[in-house]
Formats: sequence, C-alpha cells, structure tokens
Amino acid sequence: MTESHTLQQALETARRRIKELEEELAKQESSNNTPLEEVAFESAPGGMAILSSEGIFLACNKVGADILGYTVSEMDGLPIDRLCIDEKCKTLLKTSTHVPQNINDNRISMRRKDGERIWVDMDITPVEYGSKQAVLLSFIDITPLKELQSELNSVYSDVEQLIKERTADLENANYNLGALNHKLIKRDVEHQTARKSLQESEQQFRSIFENNHAVMLIIDPDSGAILDANPAAVEFYGYSLREIKTLNIAHINTLDDEEILQEVKNAEQEKRNHFFFKHRLANGDIRDVEVFSGPITSISGRILYSIVHDITERREAEEKLEQYRRIIATATDLYSLVDRDYRCTMVNDSYLSTFKLKKSDVIGKPLQQLMGQPIFDQHIKPYLERAFKGEACNTEHRVQLSGEDRFFTVTYNPVPRADGTIDYVSIVSRDITELKEQEQNLRTFSERLAIATNAGEIGIWELNIETNEVFWDDMMRRLYGLKASDDTPTYEVWHSFVHKDDLAKAEKALQGALKNNSQFSCDFRITRPDGEERHIKSAAQLNDPSERPRSMTGVNWDITKTRKLQEELQRLATTDSLTCAHNRRSFMERAHSEVARSHRHGIPLALLTLDIDHFKRVNDTYGHPAGEEVLKSLVNVCQETLRFTDVFARMGGEEFAAILPETQIPEAIVTAERVRKAVASTPVNTDAGIIDYTVSIGISTLRDDDDSLDDLMRRADKALYKAKENGRNRVETE
Ligand code: GH3
Ligand code: MG
Ligand code: MG
Repeated sequence: MTESHTLQQALETARRRIKELEEELAKQESSNNTPLEEVAFESAPGGMAILSSEGIFLACNKVGADILGYTVSEMDGLPIDRLCIDEKCKTLLKTSTHVPQNINDNRISMRRKDGERIWVDMDITPVEYGSKQAVLLSFIDITPLKELQSELNSVYSDVEQLIKERTADLENANYNLGALNHKLIKRDVEHQTARKSLQESEQQFRSIFENNHAVMLIIDPDSGAILDANPAAVEFYGYSLREIKTLNIAHINTLDDEEILQEVKNAEQEKRNHFFFKHRLANGDIRDVEVFSGPITSISGRILYSIVHDITERREAEEKLEQYRRIIATATDLYSLVDRDYRCTMVNDSYLSTFKLKKSDVIGKPLQQLMGQPIFDQHIKPYLERAFKGEACNTEHRVQLSGEDRFFTVTYNPVPRADGTIDYVSIVSRDITELKEQEQNLRTFSERLAIATNAGEIGIWELNIETNEVFWDDMMRRLYGLKASDDTPTYEVWHSFVHKDDLAKAEKALQGALKNNSQFSCDFRITRPDGEERHIKSAAQLNDPSERPRSMTGVNWDITKTRKLQEELQRLATTDSLTCAHNRRSFMERAHSEVARSHRHGIPLALLTLDIDHFKRVNDTYGHPAGEEVLKSLVNVCQETLRFTDVFARMGGEEFAAILPETQIPEAIVTAERVRKAVASTPVNTDAGIIDYTVSIGISTLRDDDDSLDDLMRRADKALYKAKENGRNRVETE
C-alpha cells in the first residue's frame, strides 16, 4: 500500500512538471517565430547565433552566450568544434553549414565553457549573413527538462518494472493456483484409480496366490509371522493351513540369523533377487529352497510375499553335474565337444596336456585346422557326419606324438537336445598304446600257455568260492574222461570222481588254502567213468588274495605215469632185482627201526641169517643161470613160509636174512626149522636139471644189553657159522 501511494505521488509530480515545461516550451516556440532582426536577435528569449559555413561563430546573443557559458564577445570567432561534445553534434552543425537546410527540434548535447555538459534544443535555419551563406542557430537550454525526463524515465521504468513484476507475480500466482487446482483434481482421480487398481490387483494377487502351483507365503515383515500360505505351500510344508499360520518363518528356515544375514549379503553381491535357504518340512525333512521375496502394499498395509521353489533335486542335479564336470576335467581320457561347424567348443585338461596346447589354441577352432585337412577328411569327418545323424560310432586312430606312434580309441557320441536335434558331438579319445601292447603280450602269452597246457596235458579249472560254480576247460574234461560236450561239472561231481581214500585229504587241503589264503596243492586218485584209475596232481591259487578272494584258479595234470615210475623206483631201491626180496639197504633200514621199536616197548625180536650150502658146487654143476633160479626159488619158499610182518632180504650173493618181530628164541627156532625143511624139500626145476639144495640158518635174539643191530647180526652170523661147522642143513642159535 505504501509503495503504491509513493508511486502515485511521484507520478503526479512528474505530470505537473511536464505540463509546466511544455507551457514554457510553447511560450518559447511562439517567440522563435519572430523575423530575423537584430533587436529580435538580441532580445530573443532563447539563444541565437550565426554560424559561418566554416563553422565559426559570427554572432551570438546574450542568452545564447549565457547558455554556453561565454561572454558575447568571446563567442565571436569561436569554432563550433569547441562546443561539440559528440559526433551527433558535430555532424549536425557542420553538415548544416555546408549544406544549409532547415533542421527543427534537434536535441543535442553541448559542452559549456566551464566544461559542463548541457542539453539544448536546436533549430538550424540557413540565412545570408553579409552576403555570405550562414546558418542561424536558435537554441534553448533543455538540460533541466532532460534531467527531469531522465528522472521521469527512470521513475517510469521503475514503475513499469514494478508493475511488470507484480503482473508477473500475479500471473504466476494465478497460474500456480490453476496448476495446483488441476493437480488436486488429478491427484484425486489418480487416488481413486489407484485404489481401484489396488483392489483389482489384490483380487488378482489373491487368485494367483490361491491357484498357483508355486509355493507362496505371506509374511509380516516386522515379526516374521506367517500370515497366509497358499494350498501349494500347505502341501509342500505338510502343515495344515491353520498350523502354518501359527508359525513364524524362523521355524521353517533352518539358517540362524547370522547365516541369513550372510546369505542376504551374498545375494546383494551376486546381484540376485532371490535367496538360497534350507527349509524344514513338518516331517523333519530339510529341503534346499530358492526364495523370491519382496514387499507389496495391500489395502491392509505393507506385507512381505515369498515364493519358494524347492531346488533340492536341482541342487543335487547341479552337484551331480559339477561332479561330472570334475570327472571330465580330471579324466585321463581326452574329451572334446564339437559343434556343427566342426569347431571345438570344449576340451578337458587331458586333451590339452596330450597335445601340448593351450585352451585358447583350441576353443572355437575348427578341427580341420587343429588336425590338418587330410587327417580330418580321412579319419574324422566321416565319423562326425554319422554322429551328427544320431549314430554313436567308434574307431581307432594312430597319432604321432613327440615322434612316437600312439594308438587311440575314439568314440563319437551325438549329444541330442530334448527335442532330438543334435547340435554337438562329443569325442572321447583314450590312449590305448600300452593296452594294445599288453593285449599283444597277453595274446602271445595265452597262445604259449595254450601250447604248454596242451603239450603238458594241463587242465585249467576255476572255482567260485561263493557259489561253488566250477569252470573246467576242455583239457580238464579230457583228464577226467569226460566229453567236451558234457555239462560243466559241479563241485559235487568233482567229489564223486576222487578216490574215496583221497577225498578227505584233498578236501582238507582245499579248505586249508581257502582259510589261510594260501596256495593249494594236492595229489589224489580219480576214477574215470570207464573205471580207469588215474593219479592227478592239482595246484591252485586264490584270485585277488589282497582283497576278499571270490574265486580260485587252478590246474590239474595226470601224474599216473610219474607216480608209477616213482613206485617202481622205490621198489627198485628197496628190492633185490633178481629175487624181488628186500635188498640189504632196505633190510638194514627195517631192522634198525625194528630193533629200536623192540627196545622201546621191551618186546622180543629174532634175527635169522641163511646161507646156501655148497652153492659153489651148484654153480659149478648146473651153471650160473641155474644157480640164480635156485636163489629165486629160495626167496619164494622163504616168503611163503615166513609171516607177512617178517622182513626177508637178500643180503648179497647166496646169503639171506630175516627179521622176526615179537619173536622169542623157541618160536624163532621153529620158524627157522620150518624154512630149512621147506627149502630142503623144494627142489628147483631148471633147464640144467632138477636141483636139490639145503640151507644153514643161524638165529640170534635181541638182548637188553645189545647196543645195536650189529650185536644181533654178529651173533646170528656166529650161529650160522656154527651150523656150517656142525654139518650144514641145520639151525643153530647164539
Ligand atoms: P658153504 O657151504 O661153505 O657155504 O659153501 P659154498 O660153496 O656155498 O661157499 P660160499 O658160501 O663161500 O660160496 C659162495 C658162492 O656162491 C660163490 C659164488 O660163486 C656163488 N654165488 C654168489 N652169488 C651168486 C649169484 O648171484 N649167482 C650165482 N649163480 N652164484 C653166486
Ligand atoms: Mg656163502
Ligand atoms: Mg654157501
């Protein structure tokens, strides 16, 4: 109010002043119309001056000189330049002097003598002055007017500015008010729309919540209380809806607060919008879950919804996948994956180390480039083409590595998608160089073994310890007199082959080997189906003795010939080749053990020594061969006469001896007499004729003080000598 009042006053004052000045001006203008006369010139109310065409003042009246600050006389001859202050002044005055013209109402700025700047309103009229062309300057000082005008202008401009500002403010205010109003209306509409859409979205949400197969929970974000659960959640957790609504999410989440915080941090770092937790079901099972959680605003306030995915199987599958990855990465086999452009998209470490390559040398590179075009075309492409058509195929490649030939088995496997399209083929290569060598060695060895077992007639058998199943090769069947077409015998069948006297021994040896994880070795006799008895040697070894053995592999071979040979050798070693009686060595062995036994048990023992009477004569009369017939006959007679337990031997030449265990002297004499008589009454029928002969016999019996067999033999020899002395064909004792 004060401001507008002051403004009003200033305007009033300005208007008044303007009116005064205008009246004054009107007055002055009316006096300017006075004709050019000297009196008029001098007495003119305004300034008047004559200016030559050279710009020099020729005359100036008193008023004009006063305005310009000079005396009238000083004005005479003064150049106009001295008064000019700016170009406008110069141009105006000088031009007018050159080209005389009427110029009215020109407001120009001039400099007074004292240097002060003044404003004049100047009219310029061409005149003739003393026959020379000049201009009459008629001017008034309008400096105060000018100042007032400028002041007024400034006031005007201030007022104008103020009005402008006020108008702008008002306009702004008005605009703002309108906008505000508009906004309010809009806000109201929006609010209503939002409320409606919120209601709609809540309905939608409820429908999604109820019908969705995904497990969903509504949780109070502040307390963690489970406010609601959808049917899928009820089924998943195994609680009733009523039960689950009494629970807090902390009952279900098995992670403690710290672990949950850590998982939230992890999710932030990995820029995940979901969390991995472990949820406990009603039955106590723990499941890996992926939880998508977020706040939503409902009509009833801010709640937290959680969508829970059971990822236990996925986790297991991921772990399995990871295991597969590790298996492939660490496998000694060479793995690579090739796309339809035959580019390598994946290789494992073995591949890189075998070919001495870096991953960047291989990945994305076509196989043509990696293997060379000719090798690719000939050995790789045909298999890849087949694999891309869905056929898994195998081949063997020979590859030169570090100047050495290596053999690989290569498997091309199609890798189909779920829809059956094959975008990749996996190539698995295995270095089988050593295996091949071993295979070759094994083949050579088996061939040699086959030759050896055939040549040596060695049968091979295998026994499964757990099932008692038996494997026999053809040679085994042949050894047991079976045909190749016969059924595989069982363990029991083998039993039935073994001689009943040897079965216990064989069985014991076998069980001992199984029990002690040791080698099995045993000889036994078998009876073949045709009734022939054979001696078999069996040897076997447990397979995988370091582990729990499950089977035993062994061999059988026929030792009948050997056994017979051994028996023959034994017989030869212990018997006299001519007469088949025990020989001296065998006799001595048996006699020694009988002496020891008799001493040990205090039982009697008798010894007979026999010598054919006048045997030289027999030889001389009938010849040596006949003599030998006599020797054989004597043995037969003696063996028939003596007991089975008596040991009868040819001690050398035509001398014999007999050990009679458990025999006292009287029985010994009876036995000796029986022998003597039998010999004497058994003539020998030879080619050279019938030979009658006799023997002399010496007897000794074991005494307690006998140190050895020698004592016993010495006494028997002594008795024999006595019998010879006393006429032969007699028995003597000592
Ligand atoms: P005596 O009644 O004193 O014993 O008379 P003898 O002739 O039997 O004498 P002696 O026992 O000293 O002689 C042994 C003879 O037996 C000598 C040798 O020619 C003979 N003789 C020894 N061994 C054999 C043999 O293996 N075959 C044959 N044909 N004669 C043998
Ligand atoms: Mg003799
Ligand atoms: Mg004799």
